[in-house]
Amino acid sequence: MIVVMKHTATPVEVDEVVAQVNADGYTPHISQGETHMIIGLVGESPTPLREDNYSSMNGVEKVVRVSSPYKLTGRDMHPDNTYVPLNGSSVGKAKVVVIAGPCSVESREQIIEIACAVKEMGATALRGGAFKPRTSPYSFQGFGEKGLQWLAEAREMTGLPIVTEVMDPALVPMVASYADVLQIGARNMQNFVLLNEVGKSKQTVLLKRGMANTMEDLLMSAEYVMAQGNGKVMLCERGIRTFEKYTRNTFDINAVPVLKHRSHLPVIADPSHAVGYSEYVHSIALASVAAGADGLIVEVHPTPAKAASDGRQSLDYAGFKKMMDAVQRVAEAVGRTA
Ligand code: PEP
Ligand code: MN
Repeated sequence: MIVVMKHTATPVEVDEVVAQVNADGYTPHISQGETHMIIGLVGESPTPLREDNYSSMNGVEKVVRVSSPYKLTGRDMHPDNTYVPLNGSSVGKAKVVVIAGPCSVESREQIIEIACAVKEMGATALRGGAFKPRTSPYSFQGFGEKGLQWLAEAREMTGLPIVTEVMDPALVPMVASYADVLQIGARNMQNFVLLNEVGKSKQTVLLKRGMANTMEDLLMSAEYVMAQGNGKVMLCERGIRTFEKYTRNTFDINAVPVLKHRSHLPVIADPSHAVGYSEYVHSIALASVAAGADGLIVEVHPTPAKAASDGRQSLDYAGFKKMMDAVQRVAEAVGRTA
């Protein structure tokens, strides 16, 4: 249930509603919109909710039952867009941000070189995996904390914030001490213990959609993070599994406008994992921006054929430059900037 306050509601009237919510055993969630304040009732309580108890209170405009299961992530309780700060930009506002870098951090020199190159070409943030979720236990698993230290050095040299994956709930505080954005990979989207931990960390989270998960599943996973008090969540469409074999996954373009419609959180598109082949990344990046994505996360490597992971889908520098130029033109065509 949400309580919509009148635009003339006084702080005392707001306090009275909040006190009533607490007395009923729910957690009040306050969202100040452009015109109205909304107080959401979150959680479980044995006290049945009676709309009349709230609608008759001073300063209350109306009381609305919320049917959506993702109360914090959905737009009912929070109609206005959420903007997530990233390197001086607000993800969700006009500027389309671009997070770029290799799939894996391979060496100190490699990550510093790539960071300098993508920064020069206009990237907002640097990506790079130090803990890699690999299908095979015999594939390269990442450099772990050493990789995070190299990422931090690359940040020091370029000023680019770091986006990197955390897989182990026990390692969240350690990874968060290096990372600016904690990535939850597709395979861990429903690792609820991990979601609770990144929620507690209060660090910005990039939550990737699982390859076999619905948009509702994704929004429910975001709800876990938000329920821990962390509202800095970016949703990421990275392709889902279908019967199609000519691409690694199928980019669900529907997810961009649908997630934007249902949720106030920013939406990031990952064309690299979605298609799996560098020659298609450019087109899907542009389509995402045209569809309303607030940002892109793209794999870039100077010599994709030699990459430790995901080389086949990584753009080289020339490809990235070409994509950045085109992203700018498409962003402007749809009333955004890049
Ligand atoms: C990655 O970003 O390199 C990655 C492993 O992504 P996903 O979890 O989407 O497969
Ligand atoms: Mn990858």
